[in-house]
Amino acid sequence: MRSDILRAVEDEFAARRARNRAEEERREAEIARRCPEVLRLREERQQLIYSGIRGMLHRQEELRSLPARMDEANRRIAAALREAGYPENYLDPIFDCPRCEDRGYTGEPVREMCTCMKEAVSRRLRGDMGLSEAAPQTFESWRMDIIPDRPLPGLAMTQRQLSAIVRTQCEEWANRWPDSPVQTVLLGGESGLGKTFLLHAMARRLLERGQRVMLLSAYRLLEECRRAWFGGDDSGLKEILACDVLLIDDLGAEPLMPNVTIEQIYHVLNERLTAGRATVISTNLTIEELKGRYTERIVSRLTDRTSALTVRLQGDDLRRAARG
Ligand SMILES: [Zn+2]
Repeated sequence: MRSDILRAVEDEFAARRARNRAEEERREAEIARRCPEVLRLREERQQLIYSGIRGMLHRQEELRSLPARMDEANRRIAAALREAGYPENYLDPIFDCPRCEDRGYTGEPVREMCTCMKEAVSRRLRGDMGLSEAAPQTFESWRMDIIPDRPLPGLAMTQRQLSAIVRTQCEEWANRWPDSPVQTVLLGGESGLGKTFLLHAMARRLLERGQRVMLLSAYRLLEECRRAWFGGDDSGLKEILACDVLLIDDLGAEPLMPNVTIEQIYHVLNERLTAGRATVISTNLTIEELKGRYTERIVSRLTDRTSALTVRLQGDDLRRAARG
């Protein structure tokens, strides 16, 4: 768990509790103004609770009658609220999540993160990675019907059929990792065929499965390398090397600095492979173009048959197909 994300979520929960307390106070003030009778009844009930605590010490009889008297007090408060035109639970404590009462954790003595907080953490992780909430790119929302069903030259299948196969391969890998010998996924194809969509869908699925995921452009990857090598700040690079799955979008679009870029990319890929971590790469370049740009040495590591899955989308640009 990234500590900055967790801290931000805990702050979010503290703000949520403060907001709900403020609303409770506002309601109390409103009721005090508009039907003071309710507040008087609540004070009586409070006294009853105090006397109950004292009764625990001295008077067993009073203690026995306490539940019935509490019920009666609650009934009278509810009736007074109803009469004043308010819902019966108007003065109850307000919680966004009744399960953890907005603390984010449940369980005693073993504290466990509540589902609402888990969701808040993954929402923040998704936002952090630029995964859209408004139009989520998921395997489920991948639309087969907008992909042309025309035969691909040189292949015995249509663009839609090929896309379906690639989608399935990506999804199965995202469902299985780390339970898979494939450590590297190279997702190729020209722009507009859905590579970034699939990359985002994979990142989401891996996040749902609790994997530590990083998704970034090749451009930002190299920025972080440069910051570590020449700027003395290796916090970003450390994260890049340590996450379970690194997803690099659009390898080949970054500016190439002779020697430096190649060394940095090799360093990242090699470290991750050696450590048994996974890397998923999308690129517009063909294998031959990759070799020309990044050397044979790097490309052979990326496409090694025993540890890599190489898939390639082909066909017409979907953005044009959707318009036309
Ligand atoms: Zn909760």
